[in-house]
Amino acid sequence: MKIEIKALAEKYGTPLYVYDFDYISNRYTTLKEAFGGKKSLINYAVKANSNLSVIAHLAKLGAGADCVSIGEVKRALSAGIAPYRIIFSGVGKRDDEIHDALHLDILLLNLESEAEMKRVEMMAKELGKKARISIRVNPNIDPQTHPYISTGLHENKFGVEIDMAKRMYIYAKKSESLDPIGIHFHIGSQLTNLTPIRESCAIVADLVRSLKAINIDIKFFDVGGGIGVVYDDEVTITAKEYTGAIFEVTKGLDVTLLCEPGRYMVANAGVFLTKVLYEKVNGSKRFVIIDGAMNDLIRPSLYNAYHKIEAVEVEGTLTPADVVGPVCESGDFLGKDVALPPLEHNDILLVHSTGAYGFTMASNYNTRAKPAEVALEKGEDRLIRRRESYDDQVALELEYLKK
Ligand SMILES: *Cc1c(COP(=O)(O)O)cnc(C)c1O
Repeated sequence: MKIEIKALAEKYGTPLYVYDFDYISNRYTTLKEAFGGKKSLINYAVKANSNLSVIAHLAKLGAGADCVSIGEVKRALSAGIAPYRIIFSGVGKRDDEIHDALHLDILLLNLESEAEMKRVEMMAKELGKKARISIRVNPNIDPQTHPYISTGLHENKFGVEIDMAKRMYIYAKKSESLDPIGIHFHIGSQLTNLTPIRESCAIVADLVRSLKAINIDIKFFDVGGGIGVVYDDEVTITAKEYTGAIFEVTKGLDVTLLCEPGRYMVANAGVFLTKVLYEKVNGSKRFVIIDGAMNDLIRPSLYNAYHKIEAVEVEGTLTPADVVGPVCESGDFLGKDVALPPLEHNDILLVHSTGAYGFTMASNYNTRAKPAEVALEKGEDRLIRRRESYDDQVALELEYLKK
């Protein structure tokens, strides 16, 4: 991809997100094949990268969608994912979201509390529907990842404890408006260690066995997302290891296996292109100031996340520099102590592994337009979202302006 970087920056401007769709195909196929002949559905976690063309690309490959808002459900539908391949998770679903999800007849509403279950039951009754539900179980396993992206411990807000889940299933089974056919857990993101996945999976599989024993027939066993990817030099889980562990602990269970990878599908499909504006030295500290910023890519500021950064086609001795944006926050950096050659105005920096939680977490802070997004597929490049304009940004305010 490197050769065309300069041409892409020239053609579409910077800052710019570029996604390799062939890489996404590869990831999808690798994971799907790792499920072998087992009944499975890969529900792409839309929040990782919700560009309609990205979702449509995965839809064509056969993916379903895991959504965390009704907006994401609508994106999945717009992109061509069938309702029966869509699941809707999230700790706080509003009434209108539940209503629309029931109306759209999606595969599963994934419930995260008893109160939410009662709410869904009531609304399904009003609509004369039977809501297909799964319950998110919190297996209380430490996923050994960053605390902000850890979700499987009781101290997190996600899911319900095993005993509570069991009570909820028994209640739902008796309800005329609920159809409890799924079970779900998701213990965290960027998991690079198989043990917590296997352990949670085993706990939830035991619960399914005990539910089946009392005639509650769980058909969909959803292991969540979270497969870690390589940002730097991490050793992470392969698709085969992942499904191998799942097969091992779900042995004998007649279920369709669901998983919800986000980062795994798209993180390393994406690069972020940004131009150098200036170099400066404060005391002994070298700064490279770029046209991209924390509003475009917040992961370094938010999680202290590492993204490999390199200069495109620039020679010279490498010395450490902080790569910073123009936003008025000291936390506005994309990299610290990055080894870079001497840089000039308009040199291009390539920020790697930015296909997941990059654009989707972008904001308009400092009235900065969100970047454009480009797809690369079979040697061709195409725009999949145009760069925002000033007019786009003020469109919802202008009519209310009193002069
Ligand atoms: C965020 C999320 C995912 C995706 O996580 P990744 O780490 O990107 O794979 C899957 N399921 C649920 C419920 C989520 O909240």
